[in-house]
Amino acid sequence: MIRNKPLKTIDTLNQTTPESWQQQLSHAFSRVDTLCHYLNIDIASLPELQANASFPVKVPRCFADCMEPGNPNDPLLKQVLPLQQENMAVAGFVIDPVGDLAAMAEAGLIHKYQGRALLITTAACAIHCRYCFRRNFPYGNNQITPQKLQRALDYIAHHTEIEEIILSGGDPLLLSDNKLEQLLANLKQIPHIKRIRLHSRLPVVLPARITPQLIQLLAAGPQKTILVLHANHANELSTQVATACQQLKSHNITLLNQSVLLKAINDCADTLSALSEKLFECDILPYYLHQLDPAHGTAHFAISDSKALSLYHQIQSRLPGYLVPKLVREIAGAAYKTPLIR
Ligand code: SF4
Repeated sequence: MIRNKPLKTIDTLNQTTPESWQQQLSHAFSRVDTLCHYLNIDIASLPELQANASFPVKVPRCFADCMEPGNPNDPLLKQVLPLQQENMAVAGFVIDPVGDLAAMAEAGLIHKYQGRALLITTAACAIHCRYCFRRNFPYGNNQITPQKLQRALDYIAHHTEIEEIILSGGDPLLLSDNKLEQLLANLKQIPHIKRIRLHSRLPVVLPARITPQLIQLLAAGPQKTILVLHANHANELSTQVATACQQLKSHNITLLNQSVLLKAINDCADTLSALSEKLFECDILPYYLHQLDPAHGTAHFAISDSKALSLYHQIQSRLPGYLVPKLVREIAGAAYKTPLIR
């Protein structure tokens, strides 16, 4: 007797259909206790936490999946824990550590360096990195409304020396495909723009965002597209991240990475060397290794310049030159990122 196959119920369908990036984003962890439960970590084994952090917890599940279960000292976990230490006032750690506000040419448009200008496209991020240099940024005043965007585009069109636009935020890849397409279309109409650079943590923390549609959008030209990723530790580079990056690379999108030196997370030559090697396996070139920008609430991540220089010399002696990122810091008002090695 031939039996009809049982029809799939909606529940069964949901189990077999992979979540979209938007669904994954909406299911990100927003509490330390649920994250710890997921990782089988006793919350009491962590340093003192903030109860209601004004910069809330946000961790996509796929990033949590790169953490080691049971390890309260996991280097990825430490990047997202809201510690009490963030509330301490520390001399030199300020609200706007890199002088963004002084360089604001129009609302949401930062014109700091010759030939380049940066658009704050959104306040949103897929993950909340506790060391973020823009964690105190007044996004409300710089939200890009259609009118403000037009003023920013007019400024760019008027300044013919601007050859590169940097899309930043927040995270520009959190814009919908439609919004991103419209923004890129506007920029493409400005003839002196040669390059569009996006700074995004999404390919690393939410690789499902790298859909075929997004890749087509980014690769459409005529300008060159550069995607600067942000990974601080080799453990962040999962198989899904590698696959997403290989797809981007196969569409001629230049992939670079910038990292931040973070105390007890990646301040070790072995860790930094492993990161560079893993980046190269994923078709990404190490670009910058940043000394921490001194934003209020981040002092517990800082390491000294002498330690940073020692680490740099160690990785320089181990790796080929193309795997050694430039060790820099951003100084408010300076005309370029300042190398620590002169
Ligand atoms: S993704 Fe970037 S902008 Fe967003 S919180 Fe992390 S470091 Fe800051």
